[in-house]
Amino acid sequence: MKLTILGCGSSPGVPMIGGAEGGPAPGIWGDCDPTEPRNRRSRSSVVIEKDNFRILIDCGPDFRSQMLNCGLSKIDAVIITHAHSDHIAGLDELRAVNREIERPIPIYAPKEVMKEVKSRFNYAFQPWNGEGFFRPVFIEHVIEYDAPLKIGPFDGWVFTQHHGRIKSLGIRFENFAYSTDVSDLPAQSLSVLKDLDLWVVGCLQYEPHPAHAWVARVFEWQQTVLPKKTILTHMGEKMDYNKLCNQLPKGIEPAWDGEVVVF
Ligand SMILES: [Zn+2]
Repeated sequence: MKLTILGCGSSPGVPMIGGAEGGPAPGIWGDCDPTEPRNRRSRSSVVIEKDNFRILIDCGPDFRSQMLNCGLSKIDAVIITHAHSDHIAGLDELRAVNREIERPIPIYAPKEVMKEVKSRFNYAFQPWNGEGFFRPVFIEHVIEYDAPLKIGPFDGWVFTQHHGRIKSLGIRFENFAYSTDVSDLPAQSLSVLKDLDLWVVGCLQYEPHPAHAWVARVFEWQQTVLPKKTILTHMGEKMDYNKLCNQLPKGIEPAWDGEVVVF
């Protein structure tokens, strides 16, 4: 399997818009060193690939530049973890992928997430009738939480995560799992995360947060599920890349935009 981290930033990205205008490093960088390129984070999203089949997980507002930066042009299916804007706002950009692959794109999401996606991108769910891909064209697949999920050559399981007041979808394919936007994991979901080679998990900051995991909480989970390797994503402006590299124990690393892991 091959994983590409399209983006590993929090909802506003790093840096955030704001602060003094002009200058060498505009925007709000928080504790992140603006001279370290790996601190520049677009909104969280990944591509997982196996046997030439690619699944995009989430499609935020940076999707176009992420695909171009990573040298990717094709996607075979999309999974949406939850309907927050930083995970769906780029869905219109998939029309370029439709044009490239010359077919509609299957999109997988839980019922309430699909409802929100359809309310915002209703035009993308109209059947394609040969008029050209001036709009994205999706085929909907509503999925259940805590159930098996098979897409192309990927055989896996999707599980419930708590994300503040809402739920988000955790995804496991073979020995890989993706858990973005998670503040708490039910015991049943923690049991799904055993025996992983690679776990990509959201970790917003050092301090506790009501809707996102933080460094100490990820440590706790990591000690419970013991993945071979853990990569942090959905990181905010308090998470400096080099500081994290120096502080995190062996086996836990911060992600960076454009990172590729083959496993
Ligand atoms: Zn979210």
